[in-house]
Amino acid sequence: MPVFKSPVGNKLARDAGQVWPAPWEDKNPYGNVYEINGHEARHPGADLNIAGGDLNEKVFSMGPGVVEFAKEIGGDSLWGNVVIINHGIVDGKPLYSRYAHLLSIEPGIKKGAEVTADKLIGRVGSGPAGSGMDPHLHFDISTTDKLAENAGDWPGMNQARLQTDYVDPKKWLKASHVINRDATGAQVTAEPAGPGPMGRTLRTTGIPVTASIIDWFVIARPTTELRKELSKPTGNTLPFSFSFPLESNPQLVLHERFLWVQISDGPLKGHWVKYSNESKSEIYVSSTRPAS
Ligand SMILES: [Zn+2]
Repeated sequence: MPVFKSPVGNKLARDAGQVWPAPWEDKNPYGNVYEINGHEARHPGADLNIAGGDLNEKVFSMGPGVVEFAKEIGGDSLWGNVVIINHGIVDGKPLYSRYAHLLSIEPGIKKGAEVTADKLIGRVGSGPAGSGMDPHLHFDISTTDKLAENAGDWPGMNQARLQTDYVDPKKWLKASHVINRDATGAQVTAEPAGPGPMGRTLRTTGIPVTASIIDWFVIARPTTELRKELSKPTGNTLPFSFSFPLESNPQLVLHERFLWVQISDGPLKGHWVKYSNESKSEIYVSSTRPAS
């Protein structure tokens, strides 16, 4: 199962599994009863906002898939421009994500187009002209084929329908970061608490990793930065490969745009190791001691 991410926020935060990445907040959470067009409804997804304004902010596909729908839903509806992505069968069920009230849809985002995770699909808007809505992203996730049948599907006050056709997007995205598979297809069955990048980047020996019963070893490569103190970079980079144990629930800290993990034991206890995809630093985690 691929990893799915927040549709808003910067890449680091989305990669780290933050839902929702600050300064985004959900002003109308899943299941919330609210009033729309003079009627009460239970909200099937999230209304993602930035307090200072979010018009024209980027909206990304939450994961790989194929565009199912990408156009304006007209008439009297408040939908405006809507994109729906079909993510295929995930965990034995259909999976669709919907992004609504968009200011614009990106060129190339058309029915049948393939998208990758992180693909820019549109910009945050406020629905059709004259809607009176504040700009925000309406985002929801369905695990049935409802959104393929009707792009404007809306369960209204029907709670049974809501629970059948829509999932809590925050919970679902968080779970996606935990239940993950590494490059070999081996399922990583446990992930450290916290921002969550380890689950995505674990390279295991192919054996399912259960954090509670193993000691993990991290191999720092020559490009992996190691610091004695998080805030003092000078002179702390070690120019060789080595490995060391890491506790099963390492503390992860966001610092200088990188995620850092502190070594919990051994001769390098207390040092910090930088985690980053972009810098090509690599942290390997293994259930057996790797050769240095
Ligand atoms: Zn909404």
